[in-house]
Formats: sequence, structure tokens, C-alpha cells
Amino acid sequence: MRGDRMRPPAITAAAMVLATVGAVGVTAPVQAKPAEPAKTPTAVGYGGAISTVDATATAVGLDVLKRGGNAVDAAVAAAATLGVTEPFSAGIGGGGFLVYYDARTRTVHTIDGRETAPAATTETLFIDPATGQPYPFDEARISGLSVGVPGTLLTWRDALDRWGTRSLAQLLRPAERVARTGFTVDETFAGQVAANQAAFAQFSSTSALYLPGGRPPAVGSTLRNPDLAATYRLIAQRGTDVFYRGRIGRDLLTTVQSPPLAAQPTTSWPYPIRPAAMTAADLASYRTRLPAPTHSDYRGLEVFGMATPSSGGTAVGEALDILERFDLRSMTATQALHHYLEASALAFADRNRYVGDGTPRPTLDELLSDAYAAERACRIDPAAALPKPVAPGVPDGSYGGCPTAARADTRDDRTGTTNLTVADRWGNVVEYTLTIEATGGSGMVVPGRGFLLNNELTDFNFSPTQGTAPDPNLPAPGKRPRSSMSPTIVLADGRPFLAVGSPGGATIITTVLQTLVNRLDLGMTLPQALAAPRASQRNGTTTQAEPAFIAAYAQGLPPGHVLGSTTEIGAATGIEFLPDGRMVAAAEPVRRGGGAAAVVSTPRH
Ligand code: GLU
Repeated sequence: MRGDRMRPPAITAAAMVLATVGAVGVTAPVQAKPAEPAKTPTAVGYGGAISTVDATATAVGLDVLKRGGNAVDAAVAAAATLGVTEPFSAGIGGGGFLVYYDARTRTVHTIDGRETAPAATTETLFIDPATGQPYPFDEARISGLSVGVPGTLLTWRDALDRWGTRSLAQLLRPAERVARTGFTVDETFAGQVAANQAAFAQFSSTSALYLPGGRPPAVGSTLRNPDLAATYRLIAQRGTDVFYRGRIGRDLLTTVQSPPLAAQPTTSWPYPIRPAAMTAADLASYRTRLPAPTHSDYRGLEVFGMATPSSGGTAVGEALDILERFDLRSMTATQALHHYLEASALAFADRNRYVGDGTPRPTLDELLSDAYAAERACRIDPAAALPKPVAPGVPDGSYGGCPTAARADTRDDRTGTTNLTVADRWGNVVEYTLTIEATGGSGMVVPGRGFLLNNELTDFNFSPTQGTAPDPNLPAPGKRPRSSMSPTIVLADGRPFLAVGSPGGATIITTVLQTLVNRLDLGMTLPQALAAPRASQRNGTTTQAEPAFIAAYAQGLPPGHVLGSTTEIGAATGIEFLPDGRMVAAAEPVRRGGGAAAVVSTPRH
């Protein structure tokens, strides 16, 4: 819906005080392990900003910005560092989606670096031939079957070729140094290894790197990954072909075709570990795509997101279009959140029915049309929650009354992903979500190369989910599994106003949506909007909710909502651009151990 162009209320001076001001110091000694930079979840200032989940990655990106690199340069350097320090969430064995605002042309672009299914893939990829039933998730995940052709390295190269000012070789250097000199294992890292211990122990390469002495590394110990340092160095010297057509690629294929089983695993695993038939041709033919971003108007702002194979752009956009029919600002927070949960359920019903790799663009456009949103919005009852699951609508261009259930998408709520937000002094903005899918991916480190392979293909539906209607997300040759990653950039009057994204599987969509509602409708600052308790309604009978959300809102919500407690949802990062030129970089204060925000220069007093 087009409205008056207007910014949401600017952050007040009082609210600003709530946002801790600070910047991360950068130190980069050469050989010894550099001092770990401090973590601060909010930073306000000028000249560029960055927010990631990790203080080292933030410091690396900030250093690139300070030395005159642009947002794309800094995003690549930070992402490469996350491949070292957050290896269970991201790395060159995975994929992701990057949304970019180009200040010079005032246009938004995207890169789809999603993994592809090998050419030999069939619709029954995850059906056990012995039983005719889908594999249990962990059996599918810890195997060669789940590994898609990675897209992360070509995402970096293609982003730099188009918009960067530094070479990939230069930008890999700080990450290579962190891999070589090491970083301090924190509780989040050690916990992620512990959660994967049985799977990691099955592989000689993974246990050698991440289970020293057969156990997760101790909190406070230094972890070095010399193989990954050498891999980054080789890519810096030879370019990305060494990965897609050369030595690293050969090792990757061997790993998928013949998983590197440990001679004597220290922990048992209940499933066989299956190989898969990824080929050199699959690897060599990988290309990123550059789809037009999704676009929706929300209360006079323009919201740009990721098109298929991610469902993030359409689901966030459709839910916002539905919410735009209601005056959330005049409601109590609980009433507004009721509408948020219901809009999310409606958008998820449509996502599940219609959105996957190859969904025709006109269908996506219909899902994001105001007329369709009006039809969907009329299903929301202000006094009661709809019984879930709700049925999908029919985005066929002919809308009128309220149509009168599909299977819910309750499975994919994992958090094996990471998100980063960067802005530079010229006004360019990168919102980038990257992943290896589950925390720890397929569990297989490529021997001698130091990086984990993804399990992204388990983002396909294992069997049809839509009854007699076609399922848009079944495996097929060369197809990309549907994602929920939702890197989002919001413009006001054609200029960046806000950028936000998060990990969290399908909860990514709700985390981004709720953060936008918190900021744009509920009067919160961006740091408050990120920190606020979350709930995620994905058209399932139960709404997942953090304990603090339940404590604050469960009593006041209209009847029909069933809240199920979950420790935490998402790990978002974002940047807001204030009218006076300051940037507010925001990361999680608590979730996933807290994130790290920084700005190039702090305010003048
Ligand atoms: N693979 C998921 C997706 O693309 C993301 C996984 C996660 O965030 O944990 O939607």
C-alpha cells in the first residue's frame, strides 16, 4: 500500500541513552594471537558501521572500513572471518543471500549464493529405499546426501567484482591470520561442538579439528585451524577456480562421495552415513544468480528482500502488507503482537504452498500485492486467534471476499546460520545472511582443508507437504532448496533507513518481521527492537515463544493462541540510519552469547 512517504519517529534523545555508545578497538598483530576485541551490542556514530555475532569478525570488517574499503569489502572480510570463528554456522562449504544498496545508483541488488542439488538428484533424495519412508532428519543430515554445491565463495567473488574496491586475496588475509594464529573458544562455540559431539566423532577430519582429545575444546582455550588458513591462502593465490575446478574441489567431492569415517569413533551414531553422487561437473557449473529484490511498501517505506529460492522476501513482505491494513500504533502492544502472529501464520501458509526455487515471478508479485493482502487480512479476528494451520489463499489476481488446511511448517527452527550488516561512509549497505544450514552442517570437514560442508539440501521437503496440491520445495536436479533467510533493507525516500537480518531457520522470517514491527510500529529503538522478547508463529498449532515473551504477553493475548516455550529465537544484527547522519549498529545483547556492533567514528561531543 502506498502511503505518505514518512520516516517512523526518530529515536529520541532519552531512548538514545539506552543504546550504549561504543566502538570496538582493532588490533592486528602479525604472528601471535591478537588480543580478542571487546563485544558491545550497540554502537552509534559516523563514517561506517558493522554488526555481526562475533567480535573478531566485527573488528576485521571495521578495520577494512577504517582503511577506506567499502561495505562490500568489509562484508566479505567479516564473512571470511566468521568462517573461522563461527565455523558451525557459516563458511565456504555453505551458501547464503546478500542484499546490497548501492548509494551511487540508489538501487538495491541481491546475490543468490544458495547451494544447488547435484544433477543426479531425484525427488526421492531423502526417501529411504528400504522402507519407502523419509529418513529421520539426523540420518539425512549427517551424510553426503544433504550436501549442496556451495555458493559462498562465488558470492564473495561476484559481490567484489560488481561493487567491491579490494581483491578477494586482500580480504581473505585477516581471516587467514585468525585461522593460523587462533581464537579463544567461548561458551557458545564449545556448546555447539558438544551438541554435535556424536556426529563429529564419526569423521576423522572433524574430530581431529573440533574434538581434541575426543572432547569439545575447553572454554578459554585457543583454537587454530591451519588447514583453513592454507585453504584461504591457496584461494587468494589461485582464485576461486581452485575451489570449483581444482584441488580443493577434488577433496570436497571425495568427502561427499566417500565420507571420511573415523577408524574408531569415540561416540556411537545410530545411522549409516551415506555417500552421494556430487560430480566435478556439478561443482564447475555452479553460478550465483542476481534476482531482482522483492519489494513492498510499508507505511511509506520501501522494504527490499530476497526473492526465491529464499521465501524470506515474500513472506516478510506479505505479512507486512497484511499488517499495513491495521493501525498497529493505536493498539496495545499485546493487540499489535496478536496481529503480528496472525499475519505471520497467513504468510507462512502461502509460503509453504507457493514458494520454492522456480516459482514464477508473477506469483511472487501477486503474493506481494496489496489487493491480495487485503483479502488475506480480512481473515484476522481481533478477538481470537485463528485455528492453525490456516489454509493458503489463492494469489491469482482475482480477489474479493474471504476464502475459507495445509500442513504446518514446524520443523525448521534451527539456528545454524549467521547474519551481518555493514554500511560505509558513502552510504552503501550490505545485509548478508550465510549458512551451512544446521549448526555443524553435514558434520563433515573436508580433510586437509579445514572447512565443514553444508547440509543445505535438507531444506527441501523430504516428501510432499501440500496434499493434492503441488509442493514447490521437493528435491530436483540443479534445484536450490527453499530458504527462509531474510536479509532486508528498508529505504525512506530512496535512502537507507534500516537494514536487518537473522539466523534461525524458518524463524528468521518471524524474527525479521517482529523486529520491523517493533521498530516501525511499537515505538522501540533498533537496539530495543532486537533485544525484545520474540515469538514465532509459522502456521503451526503452537507459537514458539521465548520465556520473557510468555511472561509479558501470554495473559493479554486473545483466546486461541497456544504458546510453547523455547529458550531463544534468532541472533539478529542491524543498522539504522538516523536523519542527522549517525548510524546505529545493533547486535544481540544476550542471545547466542551476544553480538558485536561497531562504528568507524563515535559522535563528536
Ligand atoms: N538453512 C536455513 C535456511 O536457509 C537456515 C538455517 C538456520 O538459520 O539455522 O532457511
